[in-house]
This record gives sequence, C-alpha cells and structure tokens, in this order.
Amino acid sequence: MIVKYNLPKKIIFCKNCVMSNQRPGSISEFFHTKDRKNAKYLKINEQDGICDACKQNDIKNKINWKEREKKLVKLLDKHRKKNGEYDCLIPGSGGKDSAFQAHVLKYKYNMNPLIVTWPPILYTDYGLKNYNNWINIGGFDALVVRPNGRVMKELTKLSIINLFHPFQTFILGQKNIAPKIASKFGIKLVFYGENEAEYGNPIAENNSSLRKKSYFAVKNYNNIYLAGIKISELIKKYKFKYRDYKIFLPTSDKEINKNKIEIHYLGYYLKWIPQEAFYYAVKNTGFSPRPFRTQGTFSKYNSIDDKIDDLHYYTTFIKFGIGRATYDASQEIRNKHLTREEGKNLVKKYDGEFPDRYFSEIMKFLEIKEETFFKICDKFRSSHLWKRVKSTWRLRHTINKDGTDD
Ligand SMILES: [Zn+2]
Repeated sequence: MIVKYNLPKKIIFCKNCVMSNQRPGSISEFFHTKDRKNAKYLKINEQDGICDACKQNDIKNKINWKEREKKLVKLLDKHRKKNGEYDCLIPGSGGKDSAFQAHVLKYKYNMNPLIVTWPPILYTDYGLKNYNNWINIGGFDALVVRPNGRVMKELTKLSIINLFHPFQTFILGQKNIAPKIASKFGIKLVFYGENEAEYGNPIAENNSSLRKKSYFAVKNYNNIYLAGIKISELIKKYKFKYRDYKIFLPTSDKEINKNKIEIHYLGYYLKWIPQEAFYYAVKNTGFSPRPFRTQGTFSKYNSIDDKIDDLHYYTTFIKFGIGRATYDASQEIRNKHLTREEGKNLVKKYDGEFPDRYFSEIMKFLEIKEETFFKICDKFRSSHLWKRVKSTWRLRHTINKDGTDD
C-alpha cells in the first residue's frame, strides 16, 4: 500500500468533530512539492481522541477576551497615524472575514486601513459584487494587484498537473502580496484574520498574535518552488522569465526587518466566529451569501469568491479524503451550530460531490481537457485512502463507517 504525501498511515477521526488525522496543516506554498516532504497533519490526541482544532476551540472559549482587546488597542495606538496616512494594511478579496476585519478596525477602533486585493483566479459574479460592496458600502481605500494573466494561467495549470492544487496561485498571491505592499507604502502593521491553528495547525502557533514568518518571507530565493517546480527550472524550461514570476514570490526576511513590518492575526485579539463575521458583513458592508448551496458542502457563505475554490476542495477530497463538507461541518460543530450527528449526515450527503457548476468553464480557461483532468485526478489518490471497486473509487474509511474497509 502506498501512502502518499507523508500522510499518517492509520486513518483516525476526531471524537468531537468529523475531521480526520489526514487533514493537512498549512505549508509554505513556495516550498510545496509533489511529495509534501515535511508536511504536518492534524494531531488527534491518543488518550481522549480529540483533535488539536477542537482543543484549540476550547482554549479559545477560556480566553479573557477583554484583556486581549486591551492588547489590541495598545498595538493600534502604537501604529496609529494622525496625518492621514494609512496605518494598517488588510489583505482580502471581499469575503466575510476580511470585510469584518476592515470594518471593525476602521469604524470601531478608528484606524485608517488600506485594503489590498489579489483577486481570485476566476471571480464569481456574487464574489465580485461582495468585493465592490465592501469597498463602496463599507467605505475603504483599496488597491488591487493583478498578476500577469498569462503567467497566472500557466502556473495554475502547472500546479494542477504537478500538485493537483488548482488554488496555489491564489494562495501565493494572497499570502505574499500584503507584506510586499506594506513595505512599498511604509505601513508597518498588517492584519490577517484567523490563525490557521484554529483549524488544526500545531496549537503552539496560536499562542502568538504574530504570523509565522516562514509563510510570507524567505532568506534565499534559490530554493523556491512554484507549482511544485524549482524556480530555476521554471525559467529554463518554460517561456516566462524571472521578472514574470517575481510577483508570486514572497518578500525577504531582510525587507521585513528593515521596514519593521509586523504581521498579526486579528483573530488573536478578537473572538472570531465565522457565522458572526458573516452576519456582521451582511449588516455593514453589503455582503450577500451565494444564491445557492456550494457544491461539495451545505454552506453558502464560506469562500465563495473564486470559481476555482470549489474545485480546490474537490482536490483535497482526492488527496486527503477530506471534502469541503468535512471542513465546514467540523467548524460548525466546534462552534456548537451543529451536533456531531448532524455533521456526519451532512458529510455523507455532500462530501466529495463533484463541483460541475464551473468545471467546464475552468478547464476551458486553463486549456486542460476534461478527460485529462480526471486522469490526473486518479494519480493523486493514495492507496491507503482509496480503493477501486469495479469502476468507482471508494474511501476505505469514513466518519460514517461506510468505507470499504470499515
Ligand atoms: Zn476535532
């Protein structure tokens, strides 16, 4: 049996939510290679069977949020500018979380934020409308940084072929652009929303408000990968030059230190509940949910800006056995908006549903034949997760215990 991507061989499910130990932790996209060397996965405690994301949620409920807010005000006071210049930078593409963040920072804490947007690869109509409403109804100055469309397309295509990761170019841009723009504008404070630890990165990462530098800065550019290919090789084998890829690359440690840029998670300081961020964004920045259910899950308001996002979650289902309904249900269970039983039923109903709504359009845009996509797809299945039964692929283990080996 071949276990790909350094995944834990034995599949275990959390006893509180519906997540398994196959859930990947964040990795720096610019070191992301096909074998996912050094990749980490969600830890499930051997004694009580509870995952780190659920444990983190319990910790969150015991935090003294009043104290945290005081710390936030102190941080903001340190950076606040009274001369009309921007004093903080908020990256976002118009989702509920960035809308919430920007709005509270400006209107509750009286900061002067600049918004920076790395747009989705293929904006959905309602995603673009939410973005426009955020800026126009919410009332913000905003900067949009668009990469060269031809390079974006080529890299997205290559990241599907090499990593089965259609969302890489978007993630790269979204994570890298803010520190770089902060440097250019002399802004020393950048806010991201939630810490990835809330969803299963090592808990220790959540003990700090600061974002780990390895997510957005490097010491040396020689070892960087884009679409799973070393940058030097990309330049040699493909038609673009270093300058064309530069916008996708992270900033340097040197630049961050020189400009004294601090990158914080607002979620460290303010209690963050996705459903509440949603209601807040509806009320204050004209946010609306998707007019229909998102394929692969039951929700309508999480990550809806990019047509490619639905496909992204389909690829996590193939690579890790974890679809979007598992992600969404686990989060809602932790926030007590769903019971575990309800979550299990939703996973059974929707997880791994093929996102055909935008599929043809995406393949046409990327110039990939649909049958080629499915061929690639099967190459990324790890045999400890999947079993071929007649002409279909089935999971060996599921939360509902209806896998082939359960
Ligand atoms: Zn859990």
